[in-house]
Amino acid sequence: MPAVSVENLLLIPRINEVDEATAKPRRVTSVTTAPKGYEGEGFPVRRAFQGVEMAKLDPFVHMDQMGEVDYAPGEPKGTPWHPHRGFETVTYMIDGIFVHHDSTGGGGVIQNGATQWMTAGAGILHIETPPEELVVNGGLFHGIQLWVNLPSRSKWSTPRYQGLEPNDVELLASPDAGALIRVVAGEVDGHRGPGSTQTPINFLHVSIEPGARVRINWPRNFNALVYVLSGQGVVGAERASISTGRLAVLEGGDYVEVANAVEHAEEKLEILILGGEPIREPVAWAGPFVMNTRREIEQAFEDYQRGKMGVIPPQYTFSAPNS
Ligand code: MN
Repeated sequence: MPAVSVENLLLIPRINEVDEATAKPRRVTSVTTAPKGYEGEGFPVRRAFQGVEMAKLDPFVHMDQMGEVDYAPGEPKGTPWHPHRGFETVTYMIDGIFVHHDSTGGGGVIQNGATQWMTAGAGILHIETPPEELVVNGGLFHGIQLWVNLPSRSKWSTPRYQGLEPNDVELLASPDAGALIRVVAGEVDGHRGPGSTQTPINFLHVSIEPGARVRINWPRNFNALVYVLSGQGVVGAERASISTGRLAVLEGGDYVEVANAVEHAEEKLEILILGGEPIREPVAWAGPFVMNTRREIEQAFEDYQRGKMGVIPPQYTFSAPNS
């Protein structure tokens, strides 16, 4: 169960009912299945956006569901040191812990419902690892890493972080209290999440009870993506089937509708609903860099090699003893 949960949904603020007389549901234009792979030094991921054209994802670029995995002792893995430039990495830890360090000497812990919103901007090096205690003992690891593009005017900005703590997340219920809506960034019916974004974006994690449905008013100028973390459901005007690891792209309409297709079991439908105002600029993406032109990508690789995005701080350059 997600670390940020609510015992009694009747006690938190509700989102509005949609206006059935005038509002139309968004329609599903594609449903794709995220292939499984491995990231960094070998932690399991699902590539949520694979198979969807970039223009439909805009302003998002890439998303990995990390886990969900219950590690045995010795199994937890992270990433080596690597650079980023030209976009933001958003790491949302649903359950478990990730530790990070960066080339400015900064670092911290992201755990159990916290989000790290990193604006890589002009460039930064970082490393993401499980803490020693998790490596030794094993444990639950489940999170999201979302890449949010930056408009050209912001690609050369100074790197910065926002640490969003579990208690900062805006918690809302559907009108019949059948769904919990966590607003990490953006807003629903005037209820605003803690994340500050460079362009307008909604980032929601929604848990829908068996047999329940949710209808969320959605800005007309935002794209809309529904990704299933776990469970089975139906989405959009045509009630398209979705299940674990599937992504629905929705267009048109005034609200996003999702229902849990399981009526009698205990299984909640856990989904992310993402959307934003498209940036509509050319995207040149290679490895850890997201720029506007091929030339800027070449420059990024050159600048990285020359240490212009920073270097690994000396305290981390000694190799760790074999465990
Ligand atoms: Mn990274």
